[in-house]
Amino acid sequence: MPLFLNIETLANGHVELKGELSPEELDMETLDELVEANEPLAYALTAERTGDNVLLRGSLRMRLRCDCARCLRSFEHCIDLPDWSCLLPLAGGEKIVLTGVSADLTPYLREDTFLAFPQHPLCEPGCGKTPKRTGRGAHSLKIREATSRSDEASVWAELDNLNLD
Ligand SMILES: [Zn+2]
Repeated sequence: MPLFLNIETLANGHVELKGELSPEELDMETLDELVEANEPLAYALTAERTGDNVLLRGSLRMRLRCDCARCLRSFEHCIDLPDWSCLLPLAGGEKIVLTGVSADLTPYLREDTFLAFPQHPLCEPGCGKTPKRTGRGAHSLKIREATSRSDEASVWAELDNLNLD
């Protein structure tokens, strides 16, 4: 179930929201091949009206499958935001989009969870399976390998040319 909040129910006080958003509902595209988001996002939130805003407060949790940027070992990373909060304006230029009286909260949960994704996933702090590298670990390693391969190829090409002469 996508996460919809009926704004009118907030007139009677706060509303508890608890459940899970599936990976399909989140429709989250990870830009990093080292991070895979294929487990649901669990939320336990309280929504309340504060003036012209809706305040969301609570916890977000999501398990990720990551590959270590240094040693490429696969491991589990848990995103845990126990004190998450978000202020949704009901008026003004930034106001949230309503479908009838309901607001889809999914994009707000998705965005903050996404921002909590590890930028440089490591299987353990200070993993040192390979010598320290600058930049993006495995990525720079791949680039380096590709470069050395093409260097090698051009060396062989040159030798071939010599043989022909
Ligand atoms: Zn590692």
